[in-house]
Amino acid sequence: MYEKQLNLAADMNGCPNRCLHCWLGHMPNRKMEDGADRFIMDYFSPFFERIAFYSWLREPDFCDDYAARWEKDLAVSKNARPERFELASFYRIVRDEKYIPFLKSVGVRKVQLTFFGLMETQDRYVGRTGAFEEVMRATELLIRGGIVPRWQCFLNEENREEIAALKDIWEKIQRESCPELSFFVHEGSCDGENRKLYPIRILKHHILETLIPFYLNYPVLKTERECRELLLEDGTSPSFPVGDTVTLNISNAYDVFFNYTHMTGPWVIGNLKKDPAPELVRRVMTGDTAALRAAGRCTWAGLADRYGDPASERVFSPDDYRMYLFNRFLEEENR
Ligand code: SF4
Repeated sequence: MYEKQLNLAADMNGCPNRCLHCWLGHMPNRKMEDGADRFIMDYFSPFFERIAFYSWLREPDFCDDYAARWEKDLAVSKNARPERFELASFYRIVRDEKYIPFLKSVGVRKVQLTFFGLMETQDRYVGRTGAFEEVMRATELLIRGGIVPRWQCFLNEENREEIAALKDIWEKIQRESCPELSFFVHEGSCDGENRKLYPIRILKHHILETLIPFYLNYPVLKTERECRELLLEDGTSPSFPVGDTVTLNISNAYDVFFNYTHMTGPWVIGNLKKDPAPELVRRVMTGDTAALRAAGRCTWAGLADRYGDPASERVFSPDDYRMYLFNRFLEEENR
C-alpha cells in the first residue's frame, strides 16, 4: 500500500470547447457509463491509502447535475479531498443562474477565464461561435456574483495586437467595476493542440512593450535559441520521476496517462478495462511506459542538437522546451 496521495482525473463528461491550445489534445466527448467512478476507485484502492477523485479532466462541471456530481466526487474519494482550484465552466456560467451560487457554496472565490483574442479570434480558438461574448458575459456575472475573475491570455504571433486591445478592455473593467480583476499573458506549453501552433509561437522581440509587465515569468523567459544552447551542455537522459503525489489522467476509454504532456500513444500507461491492476500500478510507480523507456535512448544534448532550431527566437520556458523536444523524438520514433 503506497502512502503517496493518488489524484485521479477521469474524463467522465467531456468538454464543450475545442481550444486550439488544448494541452491535453482533442478527444471525442463520450459520457462514461454509470458506476465508472466506483469502478476506477475500486481498481486503485487496494494500492493507495489516499485517493482524491475528480469526475472531470477537461471542463469542470460540464454535466447538468454538477452539484450532485461534486458531492459524489467527495463521497467516492478515500482519505483525501478533491480541490476546486480556480477553475469553472464559462459555458455553464452564462447558461445556468444556479451555477455561481454553487461555486461560492463550495468555496470558489476566484475563477480563471481564458482569452485568445477578440471576437472572431476567440471564437475560432475556442471552437464555438459566441465564445468571446460568453467569456465577457461570464466576467460580468462573476463580478456581480462576488467571485473575482482572472483573465489569462495566450499570446502568439497572430493575436498579439488583439491581446494588447484586451488589456485595454481589462483596464477599463478593473477601473470601473472590479479592482481585483487580474490579467496575465503567456505563451502556453507546446503539448497537445498547442504544438500545432509552433509556427506562430510568439518571438521574444515581438512581445509588445505594453504586455511585458503582465507577462508570466518574463525575467526568466528564454528564446528557443537560448534553451537549445543550454541543453547542448546537458548529457543526461530525460527523466520524469514520480513526485510526492501521483496524478493520473483517465480518458473516457479508460486509458491512463500521467498528468504532464498530452495524452497520446507513447504516453499511455495502460487501460483500466484491459490491464490487471497490479501490473498497471507497477508501471505507474516505476515509470514503465513506452515514452519513459524511450527516454533512456536519448540525451537532452542530442535532442537539442537534432530538433532545436539555432536561429529561433520563439519563446519557451526551459521545461516546456524540454518536453517539446522529447515529444518530437517520440513522434519520430513512432512514425
Ligand atoms: S483547454 Fe480546457 S476548455 Fe479548452 S478544449 Fe481543452 S479541456 Fe476543453
